[in-house]
Amino acid sequence: PIPMEPPRIHRLDQAVVNRIAAGEVVQRPVSAVKELVENSLDAESTSISVVVKDGGLKLIQVSDDGHGIPYDDLPILCERHTTSKLSKFEDLQSIKSMGFRGEALASMTYVGHVTVTTITKGQLHGYRATYRDGIMEHEPKACAAVKGTQIMIENLFYNMSARRKTLQNSADDYPKIVDLICRFAIHHTSVSFSCRKHGAARPDVHSVVSSRLDAIRSVYGVSVARNLIKIDASDSDPSSSVFSMDGFISNSNYIAKKTIMVLFINDRLVECGALKRAIEIVYTATLPKASKPFIYMSIKLPTEHVDVNIHPTKREVSLLNQEVIIEKIQSGIESKLRSSNESRTFHEQT
Ligand code: ADP
Ligand code: MG
Repeated sequence: PIPMEPPRIHRLDQAVVNRIAAGEVVQRPVSAVKELVENSLDAESTSISVVVKDGGLKLIQVSDDGHGIPYDDLPILCERHTTSKLSKFEDLQSIKSMGFRGEALASMTYVGHVTVTTITKGQLHGYRATYRDGIMEHEPKACAAVKGTQIMIENLFYNMSARRKTLQNSADDYPKIVDLICRFAIHHTSVSFSCRKHGAARPDVHSVVSSRLDAIRSVYGVSVARNLIKIDASDSDPSSSVFSMDGFISNSNYIAKKTIMVLFINDRLVECGALKRAIEIVYTATLPKASKPFIYMSIKLPTEHVDVNIHPTKREVSLLNQEVIIEKIQSGIESKLRSSNESRTFHEQT
């Protein structure tokens, strides 16, 4: 037989490349909301409100009162790899902002229709511009605006039929979006958050600037807030690990079927399966009627000890000395739980 010719390699169209990459950064509506809220936080907002229609597939709108976007930057705002936050690779080591790679807004324009309204300090009016495939569609139009920026994403995944179909078949993302805003709200206590469905009179999350415990109470309810223990731990031994941790964990009166773990590392909302499992183990071992815990935890590490760049959604980070840190946190939690449980038993007996 005639040997088969190997398939030839060709260069993909830039438009195809961009859409594939965009589908990775914006996996679902809730990932778009996370990126937009993080942009609002980076813009030093004190108030952030989210409106969602059709689980985010029809509309996601995030409004903030942050510093706004300069008029001259609007033309490149949604191009790939345009950012005000990072200049050289080395800056990643010390980056404090949530964003850094200038891909979020661009990605949204490849998989949805993006409208930006913004006003910066000292301007008499704002500007509105719309974007598709990274490009500003026309000159920005002058418009009335209040302080800050509003970004609207319409028809998310209109051009990715498989993604749209799987999302339409599964439960919509609205509960995930509410959950996300709850998490942000209890960490960023100097920012007020709200989240509601389009057309709804009342928001489903509404937080006001307050103490951490008040924020937890207003977002997760009294039954959580009245059953919490304050925790902290730290280590400053450079040969093992350098970190500090503080937070709240549920006591033995708290009852729930599912663990709620809200974890911020250097103010980034992240997940850490290993830490979550380690804490669940402490609960099962320490409390007789082991319920699943509620955990809010904020960990601070030297920025050069955290690699924020391992995942396109930045959901996971990797830490230097992760095992040592987890062990220290585990033993801190264990002693707090034991002493709270003993004092409870004592109360019950007297
Ligand atoms: P990154 O956050 O990684 O820089 P994005 O694509 O999310 O990339 O945003 C691009 C740029 O747009 C940001 O660097 C910032 O300058 C600007 N920007 C986006 N959203 C806002 C906002 N809500 N307020 C002010 N500036 C914003
Ligand atoms: Mg961003």
